[in-house]
Amino acid sequence: MIIDCHGHYTTAPEALNEYRRLQVSACECGKCEIFPRPVISDDQIRESLETKQLRIQRERGTDLTIFSPRAVGMGHHIGDERTSSEWAIVCNDLIHRACQLYPENFAGVCQLPQSPGVEPARCIPELERCVKELGFIGCNLNPDPTGGYWKDPPLHDKWWYPLYEKMVELDVPAMIHVSGSCNPHFHATGAHYINGDTTAFMQFLTSSLFKDFPTLKFIIPHGGGAVPYHWGRYRGLAQDMGLPPLKELLLQNVFFDTCVYHQPGIDLLLKVIPPENILFASETVGAVRGVDPETGHHFDDTRRYIDAAVLGEADRASIYSGNAYRVYGRLKNRA
Ligand SMILES: [Zn+2]
Repeated sequence: MIIDCHGHYTTAPEALNEYRRLQVSACECGKCEIFPRPVISDDQIRESLETKQLRIQRERGTDLTIFSPRAVGMGHHIGDERTSSEWAIVCNDLIHRACQLYPENFAGVCQLPQSPGVEPARCIPELERCVKELGFIGCNLNPDPTGGYWKDPPLHDKWWYPLYEKMVELDVPAMIHVSGSCNPHFHATGAHYINGDTTAFMQFLTSSLFKDFPTLKFIIPHGGGAVPYHWGRYRGLAQDMGLPPLKELLLQNVFFDTCVYHQPGIDLLLKVIPPENILFASETVGAVRGVDPETGHHFDDTRRYIDAAVLGEADRASIYSGNAYRVYGRLKNRA
């Protein structure tokens, strides 16, 4: 069993993009409005997946993708709370329909209706709807809804606590996932994503968050940003601050995915981070779509790197599916 814990619906039917364009242009004119939700047929959903995500699953021999709306499209910095709320409902409903059409292939993870300056507690109704009514097993949590300006409180602030309480109650983890960048300094997928991952880890390190929430779980995607490469720095910083070793401090609660697009990077991840903290993922169809001329294979064909890595069979099985079942508590019994 191979579970890919990080896939986005980047190939959604055009009607979804048209709806979003209307929303965004109304907000740009200073008058955010509510528009009729897009009408999309089951056949359009099938078409959008058969030649893309499902073909890739078949070709690469993976079984189940933990599937969420397009991350760069969440655009929490655009419009107001109502804009984000409507947009999250539309995107999450579409994920739910994809999961209903292909229950063997997809399990849903939701986008939260975050908005700059708005308390994360306001996301709870949509999280509950997605988990209890739609059978979703997790959420994507944007640590920076301002899109590259980091104006809201850090992840260890009490600002976030009501949402964490609900995540614990529902037994759902969050993948830390920024969205688009509206700060020209930060390229979205090249800089803002990796910054977001690294920043979230350091916020966890310098907090008592997991004392307050011992069962709260986060997945830091893209291989943990810069974290595994700089593991010595983080261990040293923790030691200088008089904190316990990282394993004790964070690794009951923080997990990393394998969206690292070359063999040496995966090898380093596997060497530094314990195998029980690594979840297989590819982020297809996603950030990097081309073929690596050095290998002749797609950069995001991460299964090749895991298969080629020096790993015991038990550890490989944990990375491919065992850890996903542990982290996504609702995966086993999903509706
Ligand atoms: Zn992603």
